[in-house]
Amino acid sequence: MVEGIASIWRNIPQRYRLEGNYCENCGTAYFPPRVVCVKCRRQGKLKTKIFCGKGKIETYTKVYTAPTGLELEVPYYLAIINLSEGPSILGQLVETDSEKIKIGSNVEFIFRKMREDGEEGLIQYGYKFKIV
Ligand SMILES: [Zn+2]
Repeated sequence: MVEGIASIWRNIPQRYRLEGNYCENCGTAYFPPRVVCVKCRRQGKLKTKIFCGKGKIETYTKVYTAPTGLELEVPYYLAIINLSEGPSILGQLVETDSEKIKIGSNVEFIFRKMREDGEEGLIQYGYKFKIV
């Protein structure tokens, strides 16, 4: 499924600079941002937080069949990254050498072109991760 343009614009803060939020009451961090703290409910007070983008690979998989727009990228690796501030997020690794990708490897956020819709279409940018 190709993502709608309204959704692309709405998610730019998350995609461009890992903008999530955290609860001032209990300290729990959320990415993507939440409207209500899961732990504190109405007592929670959520504030915007830009994550540093450093984390570790929790698990990963190799993708051979890509969704629309990513066909030229295959095969590529998708990983669940545990950010140092707490939340786990799904992201593509720029690394393609399976010898270098390990559970527990340190990674960091990088800003990259994600896909484009045709030759004259919208170019989408977002985050990927590289092993450090
Ligand atoms: Zn809370």
